[in-house]
Amino acid sequence: MSAHLLDVVGLERHFDGLKAVDGISFSVAPGEVVSIIGPNGSGKTTTLNLVTGTIPAHGGTITLDGVRIDHADTARIAEQGVARTFQNGRVFATLSVADNIDVGLHSTLHASRPFRRLSGVFLLRWIPLLAELFIAVVGTPASRREQRRIEEVVETEIHRFEARLRPRRDDPAYSLSYANRRRTEIARALALQPKLLVLDEPTAGMNQTETAEVLSQLLELKAEGQTILLVEHKLDLVLTVSDRVIVMDGGRIIAQGSPEHVRRDPAVVEAYLGRRRGLGGEPE
Ligand code: ADP
Ligand code: MG
Repeated sequence: MSAHLLDVVGLERHFDGLKAVDGISFSVAPGEVVSIIGPNGSGKTTTLNLVTGTIPAHGGTITLDGVRIDHADTARIAEQGVARTFQNGRVFATLSVADNIDVGLHSTLHASRPFRRLSGVFLLRWIPLLAELFIAVVGTPASRREQRRIEEVVETEIHRFEARLRPRRDDPAYSLSYANRRRTEIARALALQPKLLVLDEPTAGMNQTETAEVLSQLLELKAEGQTILLVEHKLDLVLTVSDRVIVMDGGRIIAQGSPEHVRRDPAVVEAYLGRRRGLGGEPE
């Protein structure tokens, strides 16, 4: 077992000739909030996509809690305890807020989805389907307990965004404001009680008030001991919430360290200011 929750070594990903992630190494300790910053196109989202298994790596290793996950699929990585949100936000438009939060939880079901591993085996696929149908119709004490647990978790997450999501609990996601859609997405990720929460620009498209709200929620999560890997453009937020900041440019890590260290690093100043964008700059 490593002292780190997440260990990334020599990670690589290219798109045709373009090295989007070019051999980066970093780690995240339990309870740490680590942010990745860098100009547009520097490889931040690709890094998150690799860590969460959204796309496969072309080289390097990713280890979560001592388990190699660099060849695992997203479902397996989620089971290992990684949950994420997306840069552009992804919710199911026709599902209610509560059902959107609930959706993620079904990947953790055991009693309601026995034999679910068999669903990957073509000839045996009917076994989990029949078992799920039987349990859905008849129910078992274990599946009912699990359903209650899911309802509790959904309630906890709605409570976290009480003022915003409670009044909209049963509204379809398409009727939500942009900020509430993003909150719903964060709630869904948190409902999984992940070891590692991965957030890709959670405040993108949010105004100052909404951004401040997200910041205070991130600080609360941090106080609860939640480990977070964050990509975010708003530097004030990053410098406030992060234990460590990783700076990427051109697929490489050009600096990393404490917020104070990174703020003063000449390579960082060059990467940002060299492009006539201040450290608090918004994406172009
Ligand atoms: P960031 O999140 O830092 O803005 P990305 O990780 O999204 O940057 O992108 C890094 C580089 O990889 C960019 O040049 C981008 O155009 C390229 N890239 C990202 N995803 C793809 C893809 N699916 N296909 C081709 N090129 C991609
Ligand atoms: Mg991005």
